[in-house]
Amino acid sequence: MRVVIMVLLSLILASCGGKDGDPATAGTVDMQKIYKWKLVTTWPKNYPGLGTAPENFAKKVEAMSGGRIQIKVFGAGQLVPAFEVFDAVSQGTAEIGHGAAYYWTGKSKATGFFTSVPFGLNAQEMNGWLHYGGGLELWRELYSPFNLIPFAGGSTGVQMAGWFNREINSMEDIKGLKMRIPGLGGDVITRAGGVSVTIPGGELYTSMQTGVIDATEWVGPYNDLAFGFHQVAKYYYYPGWHEPGSILELIVNKNAYTSLPADLQAIVEGAARAVNQDMLDEYTARNNSALVELVETHSVDVRKLPDDVIAELRRLSAEVLDELGQDSEISGRIAESVKAFKKQAMEYHAISEEAYYKARKEQ
Ligand code: CA
Repeated sequence: MRVVIMVLLSLILASCGGKDGDPATAGTVDMQKIYKWKLVTTWPKNYPGLGTAPENFAKKVEAMSGGRIQIKVFGAGQLVPAFEVFDAVSQGTAEIGHGAAYYWTGKSKATGFFTSVPFGLNAQEMNGWLHYGGGLELWRELYSPFNLIPFAGGSTGVQMAGWFNREINSMEDIKGLKMRIPGLGGDVITRAGGVSVTIPGGELYTSMQTGVIDATEWVGPYNDLAFGFHQVAKYYYYPGWHEPGSILELIVNKNAYTSLPADLQAIVEGAARAVNQDMLDEYTARNNSALVELVETHSVDVRKLPDDVIAELRRLSAEVLDELGQDSEISGRIAESVKAFKKQAMEYHAISEEAYYKARKEQ
């Protein structure tokens, strides 16, 4: 067996071209060719975490490729408006984009599954589902008709329920509430009698200040402090039932990706994976100190949503998910996949993560 492998290896090396047989200079790959890509985002340029992730991605790809891919990053509105990122990359105006899948429910309702599902998977579970539970394959199937290849491009962890200028004491308080909350969470708020709207992050402060909306969810302490929402809202509610483990996306134009040689494709994939984990690491470190600053420096009134409100939102979320699962054939398969993964994750995490959090608290 070992002999066969050695022979095969030497054949592979010999076939790799290069006068000296060095695979690094081999084959038909033009090592001098420079790929210049444009990356468009739904975030303000260099916005903490969400906006710095695509900048980090671009730097990593350029360094790892020895300058063979050079990526220029555009913030929201610099090349295209925030909510035109999907179309811009789909059509090839830009080769790559960074945003969140649930901004594109107008293209396909099932995109909502790939940012976060209300009462669904947390960040750790979401990454497990995507990379080892069949999630990424489903995501790629969903985006394929749009000429796009999605990659996980960051993770925020459990978010906060949001900033409210109205106390939430019962479900009655959600009736007529005008709230910025995209994706499936927005569908749940609508079902509860509220009015959900989707507005890009960069416009939220003014929308709250001028009373266009009564409430907004955004991310968590680190990002919310950066936008200054404590200056325009009275109450900061938790937990983020609607986004328990949000994944950001890097979307690559299929033609641009397939035109890359295999080594550069591997670099794009590896850099995306690195940036995806890096964002979660950053949020895990920075949310803590940002919460302290919000409470101690800015006297923010942090409140927990009442248990009966959470229970009702959970019931409505199940209805929304059931209906979404019946929306199309692929939506049904995605819903089944998420549901099965969540069931198993909940069983194991009850005796691991959850039990440990409890044990740690009691010590
Ligand atoms: Ca959010």
